[in-house]
Amino acid sequence: MSSVQVAVVTGSNKGIGLAIVRALCKQFPGDVYLTSRDPGRGQAAVAQLQQEGLRPLFHQLDIDDLQSIRALRDFLKEKYGGLNVLVNNAGIAFKVHDTTPFAVQAEVTLKTNFFGTRNVCTELLPLMKPYGRVVNVSSMVSSSALRGCSQELQQKFRSDTITEDELVQLMAKFVEDTKRNVHDKEGWPNTAYGVSKIGVTVLSRIQARLLKEQRKGDHILLNACCPGWVRTDMAGPKATKSPDEGAETPVYLALLPSSADAPHGQFVSDKTVKPW
Ligand code: NAP
Repeated sequence: MSSVQVAVVTGSNKGIGLAIVRALCKQFPGDVYLTSRDPGRGQAAVAQLQQEGLRPLFHQLDIDDLQSIRALRDFLKEKYGGLNVLVNNAGIAFKVHDTTPFAVQAEVTLKTNFFGTRNVCTELLPLMKPYGRVVNVSSMVSSSALRGCSQELQQKFRSDTITEDELVQLMAKFVEDTKRNVHDKEGWPNTAYGVSKIGVTVLSRIQARLLKEQRKGDHILLNACCPGWVRTDMAGPKATKSPDEGAETPVYLALLPSSADAPHGQFVSDKTVKPW
């Protein structure tokens, strides 16, 4: 088993994920895995970074596919005996003018952004080594979507005692409410992407709390963040940041020094903790 440190970035064949891998290859003292659901796109991205003189490694990962997540888990366990840095970056968003029915958008978006990310956490968090760093890429849209929720939902999502099961039930309820076309009446905002990212931010707060309770002394730091508005296929060419600039906050959180005991369980944007 290798004693080398290891970092994994989900959804890193393009966009912000690719830029996070680029930065980690330069700054992280260990192996960096570029992952992609499609091996062809993943290998092409690896080749691109190799042309820049960098040496990322590759592993297939589709966060919608539990078998794929478990194959990565078993590989990391066997080769490295765990994991030092996990960046949950993979995500999807329908375009604003997409005419796909809202209920379908809700189901598809939540499936990857919330349930897929949660499955990766369920399988990989137990592998995190002492002083490990976990970064869940959420969005400022999670904050604006939270403000668009009913007072009752806002209270639940801001609660310091909400459990993962309760959060999962709420995310599933959103999808069901859109199918019955009652999401408005039930206090949800009109954004599937926003609700999925509320899920990612609240999940991060819950997981950080559990790490503090159950792995006290392991000094693992876990945070959610917003990369900013970044020029990628998702956000388009008018966005203000380059992918490398968008990678700055996630990489800052991924490389928090071993002496740091904060931030933990926070929502971070521009390397600054934001109120939730
Ligand atoms: P992007 O260019 O569309 O890249 C998304 C990446 O996620 C791609 O590599 C994509 O792979 C991958 N992905 C999607 N579904 C996946 C799955 N089931 N399994 C594994 N990988 C999957 O988007 P981006 O702008 O870089 O976004 C990266 C993250 O930042 C997302 O979580 C996004 O919500 C968040 N974010 C972005 C912005 C922004 O302004 N761009 C702002 C706030 C937050 P394929 O190539 O196979 O589709």
